Amino acid sequence: MKFTSYWLDTAPTGSPERSTTTVEGHTDVAVIGGGLTGVVAALHLARGGAKVALFEQDTVGFGASGRNGGMATTGMSIGIRDAVDKMGFEKAASLYRTYGQGIDLIEKLVTDEGIDCHFARPGKLILASKPAHVQGFEKTADLLNTRLGGDLQLVPRSELRREIGSDAFHGGMVDSKSASLHVGKYIRGLGEAAERAGVTIHEHAPVQNLTKVGSGHELETPRGRIRANQVLLATGAYTRRPFRWHQVRIAPVGSFIIATEPLDESVCDDLLPTRRVASDSKNLLNYFRITPDNRLLFGGRARFAMSNPQSDEKSGTILRDAMVHVFPQLSDARIDYCWGGLVDMTLDRMVKAGQHDGVYYSMGYAGHGVQMATLMGRQMAEYMSGAPEANIWRDFEFRRIPGHFGPPWFLPFAGAYYKFKDRVG
Ligand SMILES: Cc1cc2nc3c(=O)[nH]c(=O)nc-3n(C[C@H](O)[C@H](O)[C@H](O)COP(=O)(O)OP(=O)(O)OC[C@H]3O[C@@H](n4cnc5c(N)ncnc54)[C@H](O)[C@@H]3O)c2cc1C
Repeated sequence: MKFTSYWLDTAPTGSPERSTTTVEGHTDVAVIGGGLTGVVAALHLARGGAKVALFEQDTVGFGASGRNGGMATTGMSIGIRDAVDKMGFEKAASLYRTYGQGIDLIEKLVTDEGIDCHFARPGKLILASKPAHVQGFEKTADLLNTRLGGDLQLVPRSELRREIGSDAFHGGMVDSKSASLHVGKYIRGLGEAAERAGVTIHEHAPVQNLTKVGSGHELETPRGRIRANQVLLATGAYTRRPFRWHQVRIAPVGSFIIATEPLDESVCDDLLPTRRVASDSKNLLNYFRITPDNRLLFGGRARFAMSNPQSDEKSGTILRDAMVHVFPQLSDARIDYCWGGLVDMTLDRMVKAGQHDGVYYSMGYAGHGVQMATLMGRQMAEYMSGAPEANIWRDFEFRRIPGHFGPPWFLPFAGAYYKFKDRVG
């Protein structure tokens, strides 16, 4: 078994020269973080004529962007009905729609830049883990279909077999607009596109210090210093010192994934005949899909823990049991990959974007970032070019997580809380 992201393992790597670049001089914009937010922002800033340098502590896609489930789905991290309760219909509806725009932007970028990343719109299947969740699906579908132009279709339990080869669920709901893609090929293809647009990518170049100098900033890396007029912090759940103000506002929660050996086409036709991306309806949910080479990818927040090799392995065992519970027909399937990554949770599970101390930032996608980090990359480029209204999250305060001083000691407690909610809810 490989303890590495299947996506990164099966995508072309970037140029080795990115690891030996010289860091010096002056640039218009410095972007810190080589995930979707950073790379898409860098691409759009460079297209707009700016001189852009991007700094990644490892390689492009090293963070969540190269480790996720490869699902670009409609809707926020919190459900639409919760969002309407919290912020009113108009605001919730407008934010909900931006997730659809994020999926459209992915499609446009892969088309315009010729990125071969298996982008498709098979739709998303959401599965009721408990009988009571079916009523919630009915209310959600009604709201989305009648007031938000959605086309959600309910699938009663008796008809679920046309969507999934499992009897573990009580009903389903299909959203046809959601997409799937090979996220390793996507993020690395975007890196190449950014370079074609003129961005200089510095890999293995962690930004270790950031100081204000006049109206701009100086960034310090192990390979040298550089000055920049503007800085975008796009470090997501991987935000650490020296960016302490942001670090204590983000809970980095581990999410883990396993991928089986390649399966026969007939087995895939039984598991997910429509090839939709799927998830269940628990708080600590599982999500799954078929990869382009016919593996079942099965993920979830198996444990509320950080991602590291030991943690990933333990989580892999839990996920395998969960996978066999859903698909008993996979009890003999070999697991070829097991990996983990960090999800950037904020207190209200809303994205946070703006400026602090003269530094721009966008982070906090709470596990729904494939489409939104892509969209916010473009929006931040517009915002930084003089259009603050492009920041669609500007009204959301970035509050500190009480008791968060650096290491996320509170994760097991949060995990126990959500497990309890799943048991009783
Ligand atoms: C296991 C998992 C499954 C997920 N599944 C889905 C899914 O199916 N659908 C979905 O929509 N979302 C999913 N997500 C969430 C999604 O992947 C993220 O929201 C999105 O990729 C965030 O992109 P980003 O660019 O903001 O951050 P990241 O991709 O995490 O990039 C941040 C980068 O900053 C770098 N960095 C940090 N500090 C420094 C520094 N000081 N100097 C230089 N570089 C630095 C890191 O190395 C990292 O590469 C998942 C996440 C995980 C972990």
